[in-house]
Amino acid sequence: MTTAADARALLDRLGVPAHVWADGGLPSRSPIDGSSAGSLVETNAADVDSAVTQATAAFAAWRRVPAPRRGELVRLLGEELRVAKADLAMLVTLEAGKIVSEGLGEVQEMIDICDFATGLSRQLHGLTMPSERPGHHMRETWQPLGPVGVISAFNFPVAVWAWNAALALVCGDPVIWKPSEKTPLTALATQAVFDRAVARFGADAPPHLSQVLIGGRDIGQQLAADPRIPLVSATGSTRMGRAVAQSVAGRLGRSLLELGGNNAMIVTPSADLDMAVRAIAFSAVGTCGQRCTSLRRLLVHADIADSLTARLTQAYATLPIGDPRQPQTLVGPLIDAEATAAFETALARAVAEGGTILTGGARVGSGKGHYVTPAIVRMPAGASGQTEVVKHETFAPILYVLTWTDFEEAVALQNDVPQGLSSCVFTDSVREAEAFLSAWGSDCGIANVNIGPSGAEIGGAFGGEKDTGGGRESGSDAWKAYMRRQTQTVNFSSQLPLAQGVRFEV
Ligand code: NAD
Repeated sequence: MTTAADARALLDRLGVPAHVWADGGLPSRSPIDGSSAGSLVETNAADVDSAVTQATAAFAAWRRVPAPRRGELVRLLGEELRVAKADLAMLVTLEAGKIVSEGLGEVQEMIDICDFATGLSRQLHGLTMPSERPGHHMRETWQPLGPVGVISAFNFPVAVWAWNAALALVCGDPVIWKPSEKTPLTALATQAVFDRAVARFGADAPPHLSQVLIGGRDIGQQLAADPRIPLVSATGSTRMGRAVAQSVAGRLGRSLLELGGNNAMIVTPSADLDMAVRAIAFSAVGTCGQRCTSLRRLLVHADIADSLTARLTQAYATLPIGDPRQPQTLVGPLIDAEATAAFETALARAVAEGGTILTGGARVGSGKGHYVTPAIVRMPAGASGQTEVVKHETFAPILYVLTWTDFEEAVALQNDVPQGLSSCVFTDSVREAEAFLSAWGSDCGIANVNIGPSGAEIGGAFGGEKDTGGGRESGSDAWKAYMRRQTQTVNFSSQLPLAQGVRFEV
């Protein structure tokens, strides 16, 4: 079967009505072979406006439902996702080009965050503080915030919605989702799965708790500008994040930004190189280099650089590249022709800036899909090798290799880029590991020891600093972004003392 026929069969099984993906003007293309599964009906500006009105009405009802009961809806969503896992994962493979195991992993991540959020629905706890006034009680509570706008990128077409939606829903907030225009089918399928959870949940779920808007940048801009949306969670490029942040800040709304990364691994002479090679290969070529946490810079001690790059070049030579539906494939396609062009442009720039391509950089296949051989580029030693192209996030499988001789120099190189998402060190030295995790160590939101930068678990807060946007999603206390903090003071005495001893007798 072609990818288009496969996708249509999956959409049917997942319960997405044909008219929404067949009768419109937005083409859906598979990066596997360029074939089109359908033409989606785009959301127009008036429909975006009604969606926000409907979400506002849903919020008025949903915030009155007790949080543990809201958690029950998310528990049911997790159950429905377990049932749909194989089909939804295959649709991710067809639409985003992920290998089967990564597609399954993405849906598993949705299930994991549902489990996490279900437990969280009984733990949205605040604080109590002693009041300086007799007979007074002070506390801090967390209240539902309002409709949350979610703008997501193509490379995690469904998990990003789940990270946001599972938390937002238990916090009492409806969600309006604008997925990437490159991956609308998986969004429609996710909405169908959610609708089944709502149907099982019963009458106290108001309509329009989750809505999907199909289209591109214009719709995202409209969502960002709407003052009825107190929080916009936006995942994508730094360029997009800057635009969204300015629009949301202009109306004094809140934004949660998950933007580009330029993630590094420092490899020291004491590192276990067998482990390092495996971690580098997965992090640098997994998802064809299209993860926000993909490894892009390998910062290796000069003494071991030649042997490590020789081993990597050997490992790259055996990478199975091709149709991600095939079980042996490890490297699927880039998302589209623009991504392939960006890959080639970056490699040409790297060579012009003094780099040497050690392996990769070629197109593979007949040209219908967007397949390339992952590249390793050796740059000049030290800071002079960290050129403009190395500091820029190219969303493709290019690994720049830079060398250093002093550990502090390596940390400085690691931090000397605009982005601050994920980072790691491979070392057997406790001094180097702890220094990397110290105040003068990695400046990223994620810092790992003897683990690659890619493949985070949902239990920790996920996000990064600087051009990565500063947002935190998923685990830990990321839920607080989806709630309104309220300081409450209750006077249970028969006096009315003022704070700070102020007297005001009338
Ligand atoms: P993109 O910025 O092109 O698009 C992302 C989303 O933003 C899409 O839905 C798009 O329609 C929308 N959009 C674009 N311009 C907009 C605007 N001005 N206003 C409102 N919405 C707008 O990104 P992409 O190519 O889909 O994804 C790749 C990028 O996403 C990479 O930079 C990657 O690092 C980043 N990313 C970051 C994370 C993270 O958690 N930090 C996760 C996944 C992807």
